[in-house]
Amino acid sequence: MTISNRALREGTSPTPSRTDDRESTAAVRLAGVNHEYGTGGGFRSRADRTVTALEDVSLTVEAGEIVGLEGPSGSGKSTILHAVAGLLVPTAGTVALHGTDVTTLSNRQRTRLRRERVGIVFQRFHLLPALSARANVALPLVQAGVPKGRRRERANRLLEQVGLENRVTHLPGELSGGERQRVAIARALATDPDVIVADEPTGELDTATGETVLEALTDIGRDRAMLVASHDAETLAVADRVVTLRDGQVVSGER
Ligand code: ADP
Ligand code: MG
Repeated sequence: MTISNRALREGTSPTPSRTDDRESTAAVRLAGVNHEYGTGGGFRSRADRTVTALEDVSLTVEAGEIVGLEGPSGSGKSTILHAVAGLLVPTAGTVALHGTDVTTLSNRQRTRLRRERVGIVFQRFHLLPALSARANVALPLVQAGVPKGRRRERANRLLEQVGLENRVTHLPGELSGGERQRVAIARALATDPDVIVADEPTGELDTATGETVLEALTDIGRDRAMLVASHDAETLAVADRVVTLRDGQVVSGER
């Protein structure tokens, strides 16, 4: 049986203002985004205390599209992904998911939107070491209030989809790097999000292992809007389109 959390999501999403403007209803749309990190402390000038990470970034990802983000270390890739995931609110500009501007939401609404609608895959897996593969995958469903039986069933199914049906009760420490990342991908898909952000998902893996991880990501992530940041040409090759960043600015790839 296929379990979908779309039904669960209906009616439980935040209800911020939404425009019906066609332009704004891309799965992901950043417009005029600037971000400065405060570097904290000291009595120096403002310019010394802040780092401009993004400058006037505009970027659109349609449903079903995989967009790669490339650029040297420090060019702003992770900052864009964090802004899309609602993990940070940029200093200026808008970040809309299906027309909902996440920058105007309360922290609570933004957290909820992230938990329900965005799947995040990190370079270093970020699994909880004391929990089994299945419990890690089911964790977002605990937060979403899904009953235990359905959580187990959904987590089993996702682990099967990433080829880990024989690793369900293993702890992260008992798994290889590639297996851990596939658990993380299954977890990212737990709430059936329509947006996936993956930050250097193969960064810790050798080429062959990276390939199995990319296969899992593009297979179970299919039909969603996906942003994949990477240095690696083979990883970027899964993208329909690659956007290049330099010093926090988009230099090519955006229409
Ligand atoms: P990338 O992912 O492409 O390596 P990032 O988005 O991580 O780039 O970083 C963009 C810029 O912002 C860099 O100059 C980086 O040093 C800076 N930066 C990133 N995170 C922070 C932070 N938490 N505090 C201060 N500066 C940061
Ligand atoms: Mg980064």
